Amino acid sequence: MDNILVARSSMPSLNEYIDEIKELWETHWLTNMGVKHRQLQNELKEYLGVPNIDLLTNGHMALELTMQALNLQGEVITTPFTFASTTHAIVRNGLTPIFCDINPVDFTIDVNKIESLITDRTCAIVPVHVYGNICNIEEIERIAHKYDLKVIYDAAHAFGETYNGEGVGTFGDVSCFSFHATKVFNTIEGGAVCFDDPDFGVRIYRLKNFGIRGPEIVDGVGANAKMNEFCAAMGICNLKHVEEEIKKRKSVVEHYRNCLEGIEGIQLNQIQENVKSNYAYFPIVIDEKKFGSSRNQVFEKLADAGIGARKYFYPLTNTFECFHREYDVSLTPIALHISKRVLTLPLYADLAIEDVDAICKIIIQCKDGC
Ligand SMILES: *Cc1c(COP(=O)(O)O)cnc(C)c1O
Repeated sequence: MDNILVARSSMPSLNEYIDEIKELWETHWLTNMGVKHRQLQNELKEYLGVPNIDLLTNGHMALELTMQALNLQGEVITTPFTFASTTHAIVRNGLTPIFCDINPVDFTIDVNKIESLITDRTCAIVPVHVYGNICNIEEIERIAHKYDLKVIYDAAHAFGETYNGEGVGTFGDVSCFSFHATKVFNTIEGGAVCFDDPDFGVRIYRLKNFGIRGPEIVDGVGANAKMNEFCAAMGICNLKHVEEEIKKRKSVVEHYRNCLEGIEGIQLNQIQENVKSNYAYFPIVIDEKKFGSSRNQVFEKLADAGIGARKYFYPLTNTFECFHREYDVSLTPIALHISKRVLTLPLYADLAIEDVDAICKIIIQCKDGC
């Protein structure tokens, strides 16, 4: 068996991509909101069912510039059970992350613990739709409204999902997507912000283009986060196949579930009610006492067989070395508990069913000791 990585990037056929980029050799227009950028933007707006969207170089810049465009200052309530990007975007903006615990069922922010963390310095909530599990939207909206807080969803895992039939990008003030190579939909590197408020749209557009208002006016201190035409062209191609890819992911996930359901000591991620899932990840939570082997032992056994599962998300962001023990991890005990037990198994559209069987067999062999 060849080595299996946790993810494998979706790609169109080479010819399809060449057809899409051919005209760039005629126009010589390679970036700065060209034809491909505009086309992908329109197609994504439609596909995601959002009122407004702007494309960016990556999901991280979507988060970082969103916080700037909203002029946030003070404290931001978020979770440590996420990718480094979420926390770094907050800290790099000079904001103070206040870590809220997660719930042990879908690993999103525990909405019952948000209100006790709100102070007169709180300006926003940055919840994460972890593994494509949608946060408790209604409760977050209620709290944000009551305390006049902004809500920025990190929707990097939730591409194309709907909640009660509505695109996930329509919730909160802004939703940030990532189109990184390893995500369900990719533009090689890329990201987007989805939002309602047209004034926010103007601010984010200027922030991604050096703060330039017009040919002779620069009235903001902007960055550079424009998506280039080659990335947009990749997105145009990949978007044509994304439904089919999600369908294939679904059958991989169903096969995993059939193999691993009901094993004592293994908690599977449940698809939520009212959510059209994108089957982005397949995390399992291993309880050593009941299963008989630890997460790390299972991880090692899989690695020995050339299978790259990932301890995703471990370590928690509030324990990162760069923060020098500034944050008290004992305040997020459930996140800590899950991060020590979670393992994300390989999942991509073309993962062969025989490979899923082989992966599950190794896991099952670890029952009652590896
Ligand atoms: C991938 C990811 C990001 C960052 O996106 P990039 O496009 O890689 O910059 C942010 N948050 C989460 C939860 C992610 O998984």
